Amino acid sequence: DDRVARISSAIRVIQDFPKPVIMFQDITTLLLDPKAFKDTIELFVERYKDRDINVVAGIEARGFIFGPPIALAIGAKFVPMRKPKKLPGKVITQEYSLEYGTDKMEMHVGAVQEGERALVVDDLIATGGTLCAAIRLLERVGVHVVECACVIELPELKGRDQLGDKPFFVLVSCW
Ligand code: IMP
Repeated sequence: DDRVARISSAIRVIQDFPKPVIMFQDITTLLLDPKAFKDTIELFVERYKDRDINVVAGIEARGFIFGPPIALAIGAKFVPMRKPKKLPGKVITQEYSLEYGTDKMEMHVGAVQEGERALVVDDLIATGGTLCAAIRLLERVGVHVVECACVIELPELKGRDQLGDKPFFVLVSCW
């Protein structure tokens, strides 16, 4: 698919950000290329439009860029999975481990209902810890997570393995 090649070349890599040795995959350059951005959304929409998905859960912050256009196109609601203390209503919280320490992810109580079918969206999977936390949070309230989708995968970090048998879809793998 030549759309994937265009998307891949629109992603910029910035060395030593946010700290030394890290090669940061920067999707802001993808957003500057309307054709590549549109192709990105269309590839996801083609995959998910007939899967009875009624929730697109987007992970802060870049899941908030890719999630909403997918949700609108497939007729699903969009639910933000936020960093702690950002959501004003009653929340359900999921703690998860980082390389150093832990973090938390929160979702509004009542945003999703038991038995709904969700797609989890983020820009990138590294170790997989973030997506696992989102899956757990949704499953705790009885939502069925149909699949997780990212624009970019860093396969060397084997994040996919952390997801167990949960289906995972990615557009671009960066070795
Ligand atoms: P994981 O939990 O280790 O899979 O890390 C994934 C999370 O970190 C996602 O929410 C990403 O947005 C963020 N992340 C990690 N590395 C990068 C990167 O190189 N570019 C953009 N986001 C990144």
